[in-house]
Amino acid sequence: MYDAIVVGLGPAGSTAARGLAMAGLRVLGVDKETFPRYKSCGGCISTKIERILDFDISSAIEERVKGATYTYKSGRTMDILSDRPVGYNVMRDTFDALLLARAKEAGAEIIEGVRVVKASDKGRSVEVNLADGRTFEAKVLVGADGSSGFIGRELFGLNPKEAAVSITAEVPLPKTERSYSEKLFIDFGSVPYGYGWIFPKENHLSVGIAGDALKVGGRIKDYWSEFVKSHEALKGLDLSQRMGWTVPIYYDGASPSVKGNVILTGDTGHLVDPFLGEGIYYAIRTAKAAASAVIENIKAGNGLEAYQAWLESEIHPEFNAAGKLSDLVYNHPRLWYSILEKDPEIMLRFYDVIRGEEDCAVFYSWVMGKVKSKPWKILRRWVESRLLPS
Ligand SMILES: Cc1cc2nc3c(=O)[nH]c(=O)nc-3n(C[C@H](O)[C@H](O)[C@H](O)COP(=O)(O)OP(=O)(O)OC[C@H]3O[C@@H](n4cnc5c(N)ncnc54)[C@H](O)[C@@H]3O)c2cc1C
Repeated sequence: MYDAIVVGLGPAGSTAARGLAMAGLRVLGVDKETFPRYKSCGGCISTKIERILDFDISSAIEERVKGATYTYKSGRTMDILSDRPVGYNVMRDTFDALLLARAKEAGAEIIEGVRVVKASDKGRSVEVNLADGRTFEAKVLVGADGSSGFIGRELFGLNPKEAAVSITAEVPLPKTERSYSEKLFIDFGSVPYGYGWIFPKENHLSVGIAGDALKVGGRIKDYWSEFVKSHEALKGLDLSQRMGWTVPIYYDGASPSVKGNVILTGDTGHLVDPFLGEGIYYAIRTAKAAASAVIENIKAGNGLEAYQAWLESEIHPEFNAAGKLSDLVYNHPRLWYSILEKDPEIMLRFYDVIRGEEDCAVFYSWVMGKVKSKPWKILRRWVESRLLPS
């Protein structure tokens, strides 16, 4: 009998397994892949990650970025760069392997390359069945099986359609052959309710687009073709090796992330920021909090619900503000872009949100104040009718 079994060993699972093992608990982590493994991802981690990690990740950082070149439908190019880093670009195979190594060092028992096919809460314990026929028992199950996993969907009934759909490609292009550095490329308007990106790494450009699944309505490949054909920074590059993936963003009305002896972290719990689709930081942050709740549960008999209360006070308000920002920006990308062109300060201030120095809700109120005080009449009318009920 383990104290805890962690299913999935991406950023969420490795962080949870490490935290539990460091507290002296007997923990088993299982992943269907053998690490290092590829993960479709932009791989840009906001610098606020430094506030929650107690070890160095610099060996995995391939580019430090201070802002971006923005475009609207691949045109109207505009640089908004800060004097300080905003994000760190990593390749997920290296980054995730680094986190897993830390979990192993802390004493977590790890099984790689074997799929978990079933997980059940038996009331007094949980049971986990592996594809190779082995069965393990534990007091608590930590779901960390990502967007393709089953725990959030099957055990908690989370809705897989509440997601962004994406296409990505890793395009070989070494840093030495590029004329730019320390920045991303972000395109608004190329995909409904989403954005396109180019995130430079040491030897690659991670290129992608993602948009709301319902609004994209099965046309993601068309938007991808248009984006890669028209964007200046992609001219002449081979983007044929592409991949589709979903981003399970947070949605209002999702069921709680604790049920009986099971606790959800990261993507399987839809704990992804709905504005940027940023999930690495939140996978790690929620896994740390989940591990604390499990430790308190096992050592002191406290309920796992403390984790749910923490999510509701610390994470959901941030996500709700990010959701409002999404409505503002992605429903009106052309207007939003015009506003940015006139007032790039808005984006510089948003970088403080990304760095964890400003609350997203405070930023949102500030932007709304600006919008309402300027003559962007169409947007203002929309804002008043949709967001400010009398
Ligand atoms: C196209 C795209 C671009 C993105 N860009 C960014 C970005 O730039 N920055 C950012 O912060 N976030 C980004 N994200 C989101 C980010 O990738 C996720 O939020 C993050 O990976 C979540 O970590 P996780 O540990 O919850 O899940 P994952 O990293 O997906 O890990 C889950 C693990 O569970 C394993 N697993 C699944 N099922 C089973 C099973 N049945 N048995 C055993 N193991 C299983 C998988 O093999 C995997 O290793 C992006 C996502 C996508 C799709």
